[in-house]
Amino acid sequence: MSLRPALYASTGPAARTGSSRTPNRQLRDAWLRHRRSVGQQSQAGKIPLASISLGLGGLLAGARARHFSKTSSGPWLRRSGALGLRAPLCRALATETLATKVLAEGPEIRTPPGDPRSYRVLQLENGLQVLLASDPSASTSAAALTVHCGTFQDPQDRLGLAHFHEHMLFLGTEKFPKEDEYSKYLSEHGGDSNAFTMSEYTTYYFKVASPFLDEALDRFAQFFISPTFDPSGIEREMKAVDSESTNYSTEDGWRLLQVLKATAAPEHPFFSFDVGNLDTLGSNDLDNTRKQLVEWNKTHYQAGAMKLVVVGSDSLDTLQELATEKFCSVPAGSGREMVYPVKPWPSSQVGRVVKCVPLKDSRSISACWPLPPVQKYLFAKPELYLAHLLGHEGAGSLHDALNQFGWVDQLSSGTAHSFTDEQLFAINITLTPEGDAHREEVLALLFEYVETIRSAGPKEEIFKELASLQEIGFAHKEDSPLPDDFAASAAMALHRYPANEVLRGPFALDEWRSDVVAEYLSTLTPTNCLIMVTSDGFREESTAQSASDQGWKPEEWYKAYYKLEALDKDHLDQWREKLEVALQGQPSGLKLPEPNRFIPNDFSLRASDGEGAEVTKLPMEVLPPNPLMDSGMLRLWHKVDKAFKTPREYVLAHVHTAAYDAGPEVVTMMRLFCSVVSDDLNTFSYDASVAGLGYNLEFADNLTMSVGGFNDKLPDLLKVVVGRIATLLEEIETIAEAVKGASSEEELLAALGDRGQELLEKLEVQRQILLQDYKNFTREDPWSVGNYYLSQLTMRKSWHLSEYIEVLERGPDLAATAAAVRTAFSHVQVDMLVHGNATAEEAKSVADTVCASLKRLGAEPLKELRKKEITQLPLNSTTVFEYDLAALNPAQENCSTQVVYQVGPTNEDLSRDACVSLVCRIAHVSAFQRLRTELQLGYIVQAFPWVNEHICGFSVLVQGPHEHPQKVDELIETWLEDFGQELEAMTEEDFQKNVEALVNERTQRYSRLLQE
Ligand SMILES: [Zn+2]
Repeated sequence: MSLRPALYASTGPAARTGSSRTPNRQLRDAWLRHRRSVGQQSQAGKIPLASISLGLGGLLAGARARHFSKTSSGPWLRRSGALGLRAPLCRALATETLATKVLAEGPEIRTPPGDPRSYRVLQLENGLQVLLASDPSASTSAAALTVHCGTFQDPQDRLGLAHFHEHMLFLGTEKFPKEDEYSKYLSEHGGDSNAFTMSEYTTYYFKVASPFLDEALDRFAQFFISPTFDPSGIEREMKAVDSESTNYSTEDGWRLLQVLKATAAPEHPFFSFDVGNLDTLGSNDLDNTRKQLVEWNKTHYQAGAMKLVVVGSDSLDTLQELATEKFCSVPAGSGREMVYPVKPWPSSQVGRVVKCVPLKDSRSISACWPLPPVQKYLFAKPELYLAHLLGHEGAGSLHDALNQFGWVDQLSSGTAHSFTDEQLFAINITLTPEGDAHREEVLALLFEYVETIRSAGPKEEIFKELASLQEIGFAHKEDSPLPDDFAASAAMALHRYPANEVLRGPFALDEWRSDVVAEYLSTLTPTNCLIMVTSDGFREESTAQSASDQGWKPEEWYKAYYKLEALDKDHLDQWREKLEVALQGQPSGLKLPEPNRFIPNDFSLRASDGEGAEVTKLPMEVLPPNPLMDSGMLRLWHKVDKAFKTPREYVLAHVHTAAYDAGPEVVTMMRLFCSVVSDDLNTFSYDASVAGLGYNLEFADNLTMSVGGFNDKLPDLLKVVVGRIATLLEEIETIAEAVKGASSEEELLAALGDRGQELLEKLEVQRQILLQDYKNFTREDPWSVGNYYLSQLTMRKSWHLSEYIEVLERGPDLAATAAAVRTAFSHVQVDMLVHGNATAEEAKSVADTVCASLKRLGAEPLKELRKKEITQLPLNSTTVFEYDLAALNPAQENCSTQVVYQVGPTNEDLSRDACVSLVCRIAHVSAFQRLRTELQLGYIVQAFPWVNEHICGFSVLVQGPHEHPQKVDELIETWLEDFGQELEAMTEEDFQKNVEALVNERTQRYSRLLQE
């Protein structure tokens, strides 16, 4: 990496002082005084065909989605950030009561016990169905509307129109013509908004401080009543979509999705490109594009195809009036029925292997099967049964078998794409380099595991276990932290489930359909399978002279290279033979999972009934935990939950060590060690994770250990986790000692023994995974690489990624690992919190378990904790750092420019901290409007509070393909000058609105125990 420091310097605008007439004025002036352009960096990226890759695994089901599959269809086309402007205070006239039908209400609607909201489902006269949720204590309200149409409804000559249409709705309506009216109103009233377009659905949602729901809903409803599709906005917004598409073209997730699309039947809309760009949207035929937008809107945006969710603090009756008044003028009609000429994957499109070349150094396999649509068995969910078994990671599972060979990094299974006519069900495996070298054996093992499940037949006891987990999940469901997230998912559920089941439906597993499960199992054969293999290893082959003769070709839109091959019986036989060799005559050990011993039975609450009636969930009223124990090495805090009344508990331990000061080697080895411990525990802890109980072991610059979830079986899991840390270290030491004298390979193997070989292999696999992660980092988005360097530049005494890479490249070394871990654990100071459904006695017992393990490790108290220091950038000077990433990633078209203005230590001056937050909030809307909407500098534009350790500041970030960072930097400076004036000119009333909005945002009630 080439690093060219301080190429040019510019001075920021002079500090301003103003009269301090009002407290608000004072706040603003205080900020202006602090807004010195003290540090600045821009980082130019000319990065190559490489970007974030989750592999297809990530693409299809979310990297760690386990088996609880999401039913969304692949990556969403997402808007980022907000647009906005001021609201003329016009109110719609109250309308008379209209013929509105109540579809379900009160106890008819099945809710989780203890849900504070009351619900009602309506149908307006125009056919629009509405779910109302009333919670008198909600300080933030929200709404979401999902239309049953999406990219599948794109006209053939305007690919991307649905997505473009979604963008255009934000740019003005007849009643509120200003293009940022809606977003600005929300921003000034403690809210924001977003939208996403999927294959057959499009969702819009927002949140706002509760007193402003009426006005916000008025602006929102106009999206669906009178969008203007203002001609002046069309060209500009088309550029925004185009740069969104450019962004996606450098991300493996999106590139591989395009390859998957290319495997579908060309007559099915899934085959088509759907993001849109200047060409497909007709940038040289704007009048026609506008006509098509209007026409398309008329055809598809009809009340009968929409579901609305409104969450507010008013009564259900008031909410009903509000929804009726605002939405009664949405045009009636039922939209268009979704019929396609063929299914996406008819038999001609399956029984094939697709090889793809990713941008990143990554490798994965996905086995996909088309199955009947999810909609067909909503209360039996046969695909969930399959996903549970195929995605299992316990003893005897596919994951376990692959892991024993050191072939698997991650594995997940579930519905990858869900359409009205079909779903694509998948098993996704991200491979280690060793696994990549044995792809054929991996596939043979995969089919053997499917066969194991098929021949065992449908098992009712497994279904029952799954059903009870789903039931527990619903009965103890925690609310989404954000009401707009709740609204968005409920709007989708309303499309899918009957009115009275809108909340429970996604959890419901009411019918055991062994016939359907058997039928699905019989479908999961190689002949019906589409296998996607992604590997960096194909790069050479795909770019060789003869590549096109061999069938390699670039995908039409994002140009990822791929090749299609038939999957015939010969292939399968060869794979099977290779697997036999790998197994060396041993059985594969594949079997169905044992009953899950982590399913909680005891849900009793530690706080007694009357307790906690007065406890609020407001952040400023939350009482701190009590100090319970200080043993010199471990300080314990404890708080029993009285507010959330959920049978959950969280244990969080910060283990301070001297590892970071000891150097990058110890840090790297500790990270490796944590990964090996987690890997070694995986078959044991997987059942716990399925049963809502998880743990995490992580070393950043200190060790963080957390265990949380249903409290019933938590102590069992914790005991094993902390115990394994000590056991594993001892094991590694013993083995390292035993192999010391070995002089030949034979002696070495004998000295290692089975367990030694296993551990050495685990260490090697984790080393490769970590090394790959670190090396891939330079191919991340430019903004995230830039952000890393920014923190490196300002943090004193910090190790660099390249130093960690150097350590990892030395190869696996049991003795060095053990020595480093010993060093790290020689002196520790643990700060531990036990929070939730646990008594003081139970908390102490948890602390004792941790202490015992530390004692076993021989730890002594750590005398002094490490202090992190941030470099103070000199006043009035501006330093620009440029990083040229071209050498590492020449195909990356985006550049990122990030400017940071340091302000000072946090918590030193609370009113200054408040100022920074307030200014960032106002600045974001202004920066977005100028730098993104008007100047079209790129898809990512943000102004936000910058915090590094204890130092706060303000930062502006722009990532885009068009302008040179130096130019972008100048434009940011110019905007900032104007923004200063904007602030000066802002009316007291508008300013006050922003203050209130920020206060509202900061005083949100917690909705989950973990947030507290
Ligand atoms: Zn978009």
